Amino acid sequence: MDRLFNVSDKPIIIAGPCSAESLHQLQSVSYHLQSDSRVAMMRIGVWKPRTRPGGFEGMGEPALEWADKVHSLYPGLPICCEVARPEHIELCQQHSIDAVWIGARTSVNPFLVGELAETLRGTTLGVLVKNPITPDVDLWMGAIERLLKAGIVDIAAVHRGFSTYNNFGYRNNPLWEIPIELRRRMPQLPLLCDPSHIAGRRDLVAPVAQMSLDLHFDGLMVECHDDPDSALTDSQQQLSLTDFTALLNNLKVRQFSDTAPSDLQRMREQLDIIDTQILKLLSQRMKISKDIGAIKHAHNMPIYQPSRWQQVLDRQIQNAKQMGLDEQFVKDITEKIHAESLRMQK
Ligand code: PEP
Ligand code: MN
Repeated sequence: MDRLFNVSDKPIIIAGPCSAESLHQLQSVSYHLQSDSRVAMMRIGVWKPRTRPGGFEGMGEPALEWADKVHSLYPGLPICCEVARPEHIELCQQHSIDAVWIGARTSVNPFLVGELAETLRGTTLGVLVKNPITPDVDLWMGAIERLLKAGIVDIAAVHRGFSTYNNFGYRNNPLWEIPIELRRRMPQLPLLCDPSHIAGRRDLVAPVAQMSLDLHFDGLMVECHDDPDSALTDSQQQLSLTDFTALLNNLKVRQFSDTAPSDLQRMREQLDIIDTQILKLLSQRMKISKDIGAIKHAHNMPIYQPSRWQQVLDRQIQNAKQMGLDEQFVKDITEKIHAESLRMQK
């Protein structure tokens, strides 16, 4: 049987509204998407997991009836939606849904994923697995393994970023090293990026999407809406249909081959990401250091405190041993960082 999620040299593009809101909205969006041969599938949110109660929680079954209408208009455009309970899967099967996705607040829970996998057993639905909200590659992989154990083969992973305390301007911290590690462990698994939920803002969607393609992701899941400003959920990040087409037009799809130079390129891209993270952490460290400087001044304390410095150095040398790093190298960079901290506190 043909799979929905097939890796090729063209990215797998899934697009559509965060939430299905009306038949009219789904007709406008699907009309636009079906006319673009680069789009593989439409996404619609039917049941919406909301962080706080009281907001719009999705239309539920009526949205599936709209999906049936869209399917009868455009049978060549498969439709996917999020499921979080076994009953959702049963309803999807009674309607024109071709694939489902397990959201970040569900993939975090092995009990729920196990139940969903059992309900999906024997169905023809494709399954997308978003990363859990916590940056835990084992949990993400575990969710995929539970589906594989239930005999589901048409699976793809979707990277949508992580909830962390410092997201550096993104809604969800991308922590690219996590999907890169998933790919290393499961090289055959199609890996998509959801730049909309990582970005949280329209203007950041394109750079995040491009970054993922540069990192060899196999496709994108993008939120778009016929009238994003009046969207009932995630209005800040949904692209207008025109902007969505512009995004696809402007994406640079790189050709990767399996020969050494492209491996080299991928590894260099990983190094670039890590280098940026090192600088971000250093900048955070310097900010805290500066605040400490202000407290020292207020309490008339000396900036340099030999016993504290000895503790810092000893701990870092201990860390170096455990991490297999050269002790002298770690001593040198720790001294440099300390000197810069003292300069900042002056
Ligand atoms: C969504 O795709 O609309 C959604 C709720 O996603 P996530 O599970 O990634 O938060
Ligand atoms: Mn959304």
